[in-house]
Amino acid sequence: MELNEMMRFDREHIWHPYTSMIDPLPVYPVRSADGVYIELETGERLIDGMSSWWSVVHGYNNPVLNEAVKSQIDRMSHVMFGGLTHEPAVRLAERLVAMTPDGLDRVFYCDSGSVSVEVAIKMALQYMQAKGEASRTKLATVSGGYHGDTWHAMSVCDPDVGMHTLYDGRLPVQFFADRPGIPFGGEWDENDIASLRGVLEAHHSEIAALIIEPIVQGASGMWIYHPEYLRRARELCDEYGILMIADEVATGFGRTGRMFACEWAGITPDIMCLGKAITGGYMSFAAVMATGDVALTISSHEPHSFMHGPTFMGNPLACAVANASLELISQPHVLPRITEIDQRLREHLECLRGMSKVADLRILGAIAVVELTELVDMARMQKRCVEEGVWIRPFGKLFYVMPQYVITDEQLGTLCRAMVRILSEQ
Ligand SMILES: *Cc1c(COP(=O)(O)O)cnc(C)c1O
Repeated sequence: MELNEMMRFDREHIWHPYTSMIDPLPVYPVRSADGVYIELETGERLIDGMSSWWSVVHGYNNPVLNEAVKSQIDRMSHVMFGGLTHEPAVRLAERLVAMTPDGLDRVFYCDSGSVSVEVAIKMALQYMQAKGEASRTKLATVSGGYHGDTWHAMSVCDPDVGMHTLYDGRLPVQFFADRPGIPFGGEWDENDIASLRGVLEAHHSEIAALIIEPIVQGASGMWIYHPEYLRRARELCDEYGILMIADEVATGFGRTGRMFACEWAGITPDIMCLGKAITGGYMSFAAVMATGDVALTISSHEPHSFMHGPTFMGNPLACAVANASLELISQPHVLPRITEIDQRLREHLECLRGMSKVADLRILGAIAVVELTELVDMARMQKRCVEEGVWIRPFGKLFYVMPQYVITDEQLGTLCRAMVRILSEQ
């Protein structure tokens, strides 16, 4: 296809994420991607700083993941999961049960992170119904969260950054506590949990579950908070008989330097949402982990089943590539490498702290966030990144990277130096 024609058709007919059909932000055409490099149709090779939204962690075109998909595709791409099962799904469940915090030993497969949040919420509501606590129909959460773009997921996203104003009067109304205020590595202050305690104390009879992103609040603001908050939140949930849903769609599988961010606080949620990196970024897929208590309570009451079952549930191709991805992630060098990446990010980016345009610098695991004092000019900044040979997509006041786990020190240096250079000229 001729490039100009392709770009014209794209611009006139295709919606990209969160964009206008009248005046869209520019998009860059990609020819291929390999390892940490994204190659544009125009010839540039960019070092990937985004892991394609947290998902591609072992590199694009990874030979191990390619092989997993290819060998599965010759056996079967898909069969329905109603009344049938298969080895890729069972092996993956075995792995997930073994990897996730103790107690999470029931697995529900679904299509995407947002759907996993819907599934988790349905589990919590059905659980409360089964327990005879049908008045518990709402959710508690904290400000500054992001849980996806579907309906109930949207209702627990940050009320300001999210789409609450747009759908005011139609979205379900949930209970919001203040965002965790103490940063990761800061000194814990008991006052930080007061807002959540207040919300749960006042409304627990209406609340089925607390949903929260553990340690790192991602897409709504890239905020990294104190693990004690999570421990206290777990205690409060127990105290008030509320289920805890940990949304690890972004943080799961090593991103924060632990396999799951919940491990920083040593807690087990009742329900855990997993997505994004689960397939190494090969395809959309998610899993919801639940405790035996959640699964068995739901199943011992009318209608004795959990009422969800997507068409592509347990898709064999997705399970096969997820098995390969999780095997790679479980190799003993991977988590220590993420800790090294954390260290390198600090070495390269610490110099930004003094800059007048920089309000805050936050680093944990393979995540580095530069918060600026002013909104970024997205189109201009994006263009500068491409000129510097890196792929970074800033939003709001945030210029941030979450590189792949396979990035080398040299590539990471190039990525970080480009960030520093671009920020120096602001
Ligand atoms: C991305 C994300 C989701 C939504 O996942 P999709 O696959 O985009 O539907 C949900 N929760 C968190 C924490 C996320 O980062």
